[in-house]
Amino acid sequence: MAASTSLAVRIHAYGPPAALSVDQVEAGEPGPGEVLLRQTAIGLNFIDTYHRSGLYPIDPLPAILGSEGAGVVEAVGPDAGDLRVGDRVGYAMSRGAYAERRLIDASLLVRLPETTSDELAAAALLKGLTAWYLIRETHRVSRGDTILVQAAAGGVGSILVQWASHLGATVYGTAGSEEKAELARRNGCAEVILYDREDVVARVAQLTEGRGVDVVYDGVGRATFDASLASLRPRGLLAAFGNASGAVPPFDILRLTDGSKFVTRPTLATYIAQREDLDRAASELFSALADGIVRIDIHQRFALTDARLAHEALEARRTIGSSVLLPTPE
Ligand code: NDP
Repeated sequence: MAASTSLAVRIHAYGPPAALSVDQVEAGEPGPGEVLLRQTAIGLNFIDTYHRSGLYPIDPLPAILGSEGAGVVEAVGPDAGDLRVGDRVGYAMSRGAYAERRLIDASLLVRLPETTSDELAAAALLKGLTAWYLIRETHRVSRGDTILVQAAAGGVGSILVQWASHLGATVYGTAGSEEKAELARRNGCAEVILYDREDVVARVAQLTEGRGVDVVYDGVGRATFDASLASLRPRGLLAAFGNASGAVPPFDILRLTDGSKFVTRPTLATYIAQREDLDRAASELFSALADGIVRIDIHQRFALTDARLAHEALEARRTIGSSVLLPTPE
């Protein structure tokens, strides 16, 4: 088979969005356990900015960014399971997604049901599997729970709000603008706090009659960590799952004695490390999408070659819901 070339967005050194470089690369031929994927849609995720900036170091450079995508199997290596040329598949948490074509370990791929378009899969898989583990595994959300979702109109936040309210929780959210607050309310938030202008801890205390919430889901990090911890009820759980505003600095564990609170710093990679967990998570997510429990709002579409603009928008808080990068159709 002739080696296939591909446009890819890489970094040659860590840096700001301008560090993203559109390069022509060899996609290569699939080795044992691998397939060659022609990608039709690529998910944009905050983790991509951490890889670009070096907050999460990647080795070696130059490296192709991106962790989520969907497309069509174009070639299958030896021992790659039952995948066939032409199968529609998607994945989350495999770096190298910002490319027209890529090699990928077949064990990371999930087949896409007919009800899920490639674009929807690229917008939903990484964020949806994250929301899944946060509300099904980190804490099993159930009727009567009261939760707070920070950045409730973001990619992960929008899914968390819809899914948790479907499960019967009372969901409060935070958002950076009235437009985002409106979306979060439509998605199921009982109240949305404009955290740049309002005192989150005081508002949560008022909403919960002084008790605090059972769980806070916080992907914002440095800017919100203290308010998240202070918004919990005694023995409540803070799932600190991201760093959109910067990483949370080291903190004194003795602070948890004020209410015997729990803090976890979970990652999707841990929760889908076993194939059976990935299958279970993906199947529940696809069902939630098909049943309309979770609706994905793709508010931003960028050409793959405009990845730099996408990173600028994401880091400047200009995006709402999910965003995708689209390779030029062949
Ligand atoms: P989002 O679409 O949620 O974008 C981040 C949002 O955070 C912004 O839109 C903004 O919303 C809010 N925000 C608040 N302060 C800042 C700031 N200083 N800079 C930038 N954004 C800020 O991104 P994703 O859905 O891709 O990811 C959300 C979080 O979840 C990220 O931290 C990501 O790393 C994390 N994550 C963690 C995973 C895990 O397993 N641990 C897996 C997937 C994602 P607003 O304007 O409303 O304030």
